[in-house]
Amino acid sequence: MEKDPIIIAIDGYSSCGKSTLAKALAKRLGYVYMDTGAMYRAVSLYIIRHNIPINHLKPKEIKEVLNQIDIQFSWNEKEEKSETYLNGENVENEIRGKEVSEKVSEVAQIKTIRERMVELQRKAGLHKGLVMDGRDIGTKVFPNAELKIFMTADHDIRAKRRYDELIAKGLDVTFEEVKENIKLRDYNDTNRKENPLTQAKDAVVLDNSYLNQEEQLDFVLKLIAER
Ligand code: C5P
Repeated sequence: MEKDPIIIAIDGYSSCGKSTLAKALAKRLGYVYMDTGAMYRAVSLYIIRHNIPINHLKPKEIKEVLNQIDIQFSWNEKEEKSETYLNGENVENEIRGKEVSEKVSEVAQIKTIRERMVELQRKAGLHKGLVMDGRDIGTKVFPNAELKIFMTADHDIRAKRRYDELIAKGLDVTFEEVKENIKLRDYNDTNRKENPLTQAKDAVVLDNSYLNQEEQLDFVLKLIAER
């Protein structure tokens, strides 16, 4: 396996299983995993809770809002997963809910917010040994990442996976709502002005519609071994 730690950038459409693959890779390689979607979700939750008219604020005012927000990730030993903390509160479940999912791609379009998130994300890559997933990781956050994966999968399959995941977490959603939300976020994410979701020229495409988790992990480990 890799001698020198590298940065692995995983981008792709909503609910493609990016974070599942990224977590498995980080575990296997002993790397740090960072879920950038959770960062935009946590910012969105703060905006919702405080009723902030974010689209009407000036960049300076948005920066002041961002200064009130601290996002951390902490490892939950018992459940063996990383959880998102907003100003010290565990918000892992709440940021996956309907309200945040419906707001996040609007919030993620705001330049001042993206700039701050990208700055934080780059800091996490200073020592490499990092797997990061999102929408602009290989194109904007780490354009020189040693390995870039672009994930995609059939829309219905993605919706089913996300629906099952949310139901397992006890969230109150319907399949149609989940499917519609994925479609809307993909549209917003690929059509926005600031850092839209695009495939980096040097990214390897991984369509995982019919691949299980182990097959996906093997696919990437093979790419790493071939480097
Ligand atoms: O990855 P996840 O689906 O949790 O991301 C939620 C939303 O955050 C995306 O739909 C997108 O609008 C935004 N996002 C982004 N850039 C990233 C990661 C997420 O714009 N790097």
